Amino acid sequence: MKAFSEVYDVCVVGGGFAGFSAALKSAKLGMETILVEECSTWGGVSCSSMHQFICGLYPYSETCPDETLNNGISRDLEEEMKKSGYAQMQRIGNVYVLEFVPEALQCYFKKHVQSQKKLKVVFNAKVVKVHSINQVIEELSIEHLQNVHTIKCRTVIDASGKGEVLYLSGASYDIAPATKRQLAAYAIKIKGVHKTLRLNQLKVFYYLAKAVKSGVLDNHLRFGSWISNNKSDEGVLRISIIPRDTKYCLEEIQSQAQLIHNLLKNEIEEFKDSEIVYFAPSVSEREGIRMMGLYVLSEEDVLSGRKFDDGVVKGAWPIEFWHQNHGPRYRYLPRDQYYEIPMRCLVSNDFFNLFAAGRCISVSSRALASTRVTGTCLALGEASAEIAFSYLNR
Ligand SMILES: Cc1cc2nc3c(=O)[nH]c(=O)nc-3n(C[C@H](O)[C@H](O)[C@H](O)COP(=O)(O)OP(=O)(O)OC[C@H]3O[C@@H](n4cnc5c(N)ncnc54)[C@H](O)[C@@H]3O)c2cc1C
Repeated sequence: MKAFSEVYDVCVVGGGFAGFSAALKSAKLGMETILVEECSTWGGVSCSSMHQFICGLYPYSETCPDETLNNGISRDLEEEMKKSGYAQMQRIGNVYVLEFVPEALQCYFKKHVQSQKKLKVVFNAKVVKVHSINQVIEELSIEHLQNVHTIKCRTVIDASGKGEVLYLSGASYDIAPATKRQLAAYAIKIKGVHKTLRLNQLKVFYYLAKAVKSGVLDNHLRFGSWISNNKSDEGVLRISIIPRDTKYCLEEIQSQAQLIHNLLKNEIEEFKDSEIVYFAPSVSEREGIRMMGLYVLSEEDVLSGRKFDDGVVKGAWPIEFWHQNHGPRYRYLPRDQYYEIPMRCLVSNDFFNLFAAGRCISVSSRALASTRVTGTCLALGEASAEIAFSYLNR
């Protein structure tokens, strides 16, 4: 079967949380849809940084929420994953999140796209060029198995996280200077950790801080995190990475991760017999290119719980800003409040048929520290499909 046919109503670029829901909803609305993903799996950053928590799904309330903030795909996913026993709601500090089994999430994504006749998903396919005429994107060039294919698309949803279509098309975008961007991270999986696990997160913080104080590690490496798997002797260690505009040297980062793991082995009894069993294929960015669309959501909009006439997605996650010198800093909305993301944050200023979903929508750098979480990205993907549908039926 041919990987690509000629014309699609919607081309979704990226198979992270936003891309998954954008493609699923597009197909459900009856549009001929293609999703292209440059890697070979679903999940984007959530997969490369080995997440276990969907944040931003629930209202910000003191008591246990009985439903998700947004309905539609977010709610369906939450209910089905919980019912199947592969996910459960958890309170962490001030907020509620959905803890999930990563393999089960991959199965969920696969199962739901497979049943869609109007949806084609192509992995290992990277958008490399965007062709436009008179403020309309007409074609995308896609590199797949060493060939370049050109497809025609009537609308494009940039769900690439890093704003690849925005960049390639010349659409307006903003990006904070590397020195001001939120910390990125690199994840490794560690096995053979003895189980007094509740203590480990604190111990890891303590020993990283100690190594920074004694000059063994650079300051930003203090902000690593350790997430243990309660059911096994495994866990994920994320080390902080200073963002840069040029390519990261993965070998250098992996040796640094090894050095930190050795340090933990020497200092923490529970890590003594542990080993690294998996290195992430890439660095995970919290912040990158953001579209400059018809409206730019601000920190003030988020914190004041602002509502809009064209609000399409609700958010309630705090502004969780990973500062390069001070680590994560949280600013919360008032309890039981939520803000709205207007449709205009998903619509390009420059191209009539270009929309954004997920991490690269039109928000300020500070507002992004709330909107970027996966629960919100899911709802943004679905909203972007509805906007594409309205555009095609205008
Ligand atoms: C270290 C770290 C920890 C985090 N922890 C959490 C957490 O615990 N819970 C939570 O909810 N959120 C967390 N987040 C935030 C969240 O993971 C991301 O912001 C969110 O996953 C972004 O989703 P997305 O779909 O917009 O983009 P992405 O996940 O970045 O997906 C975009 C996809 O597009 C693909 N792509 C890019 N360019 C192209 C191209 N040219 N052609 C084809 N495909 C392309 C990429 O391969 C990728 O798969 C964390 C983020 C980081 C960095």
